[in-house]
Formats: sequence, structure tokens, C-alpha cells
Amino acid sequence: MRINVSQQLKASIGSIREYEVSEIVNVAGGKSMVQGEVGLMRTDRGILAKGTLHTEVEVTCSRCLSLFSCPLTLNIEEEYFPITDVVSGASLPLPEEPSSFTIDEHHVIDLTEAIHQYALLAIPMKPLCRGGCAGLCPNCGHNLNQGPCDCSPPETEPRWPELNKLTLASDAVVNEQKGTE
Ligand SMILES: [Zn+2]
Ligand SMILES: [Zn+2]
Repeated sequence: MRINVSQQLKASIGSIREYEVSEIVNVAGGKSMVQGEVGLMRTDRGILAKGTLHTEVEVTCSRCLSLFSCPLTLNIEEEYFPITDVVSGASLPLPEEPSSFTIDEHHVIDLTEAIHQYALLAIPMKPLCRGGCAGLCPNCGHNLNQGPCDCSPPETEPRWPELNKLTLASDAVVNEQKGTE
């Protein structure tokens, strides 16, 4: 996603150019359509790219392990620094931050890497295919979103006799103490 900003670099600080984004980008191991609008603003140091983009990525549901399309909203805000002076063609010092994005010697910014990074951050840690995903049966692995499986519900052990014994024992202690008074 390459945008030539040579005209914008010659414009006065604060001037904004809106740019429509609609491109296929490699995101999280798959190709995704990215759409939205990005404003490119001339700053005192370079170009600030700011906008909201929408895309969808294929991810695995953390509960039922099925693949589904997860919508992502990317609120991008990144400043791009020129490495070549747009008027004189002279080389400019690199930005102090080594991770900064740069505008190449042809005055082109490439939004692809920023989109890639923002998308990775936007993917949920534990994605769910739907709000109330029922998950898999721990016994047979059946996807419970497709209905119940044939496994019987876990048996409840009869604990009442043991509890009764405990109660009787403590009653006996109380009675003994009363007897010694
Ligand atoms: Zn699921
Ligand atoms: Zn089951």
C-alpha cells in the first residue's frame, strides 16, 4: 500500500490529504481486504498517517477450535520521516527512534507494515467465534455448537451417607462435653 507524498512534503505544515484505502494486505498469515480512510498530515518532521481501517482475519476459536472470520478495527496513527529532502534531494539524518517508519528516497510511504503491526495487536488473545460459544465436549471432542453429543453427563457421587456420619460424630462430641459438666 504505497502512497507518493512528494507534493504533500512541499505543502505547509498542518495540511491534510485524505486517502481512500482499499487493498489486499497480507495480515497474520492470510490475505485480507483492508478498507477505510487515512488522513495524511504534513508535520514539522514528516507525514502523520492517521485513520481507521477495517479488515477481517481468519482465526481459530479458542473454545471450539473452528476457523472463523474475525473483524478488526485498526486505529492507525504513525508518523513517517523522510530520508531524502524533497526539494534538494539531499540525504536526511535517520530518525532517532530506530523503529520509526520512513518515507523512502522516492517520497513514497508504505502503509503495509503499519497495517500488519496494528492488525497483530488487534487480534484478540482468546478469539471466540460467537458470544456464547459452547466449546467442545471434554470427553469426545464434539463441537457442542452443533448440538449435544452422546456422552452422558458426569455422574454425581452419593456423598450424603459420609456427610451424615460426620454430623453424627460431631454431635457425639458435643454430647460428651455436656455430660462432663
Ligand atoms: Zn467457538
Ligand atoms: Zn461428548
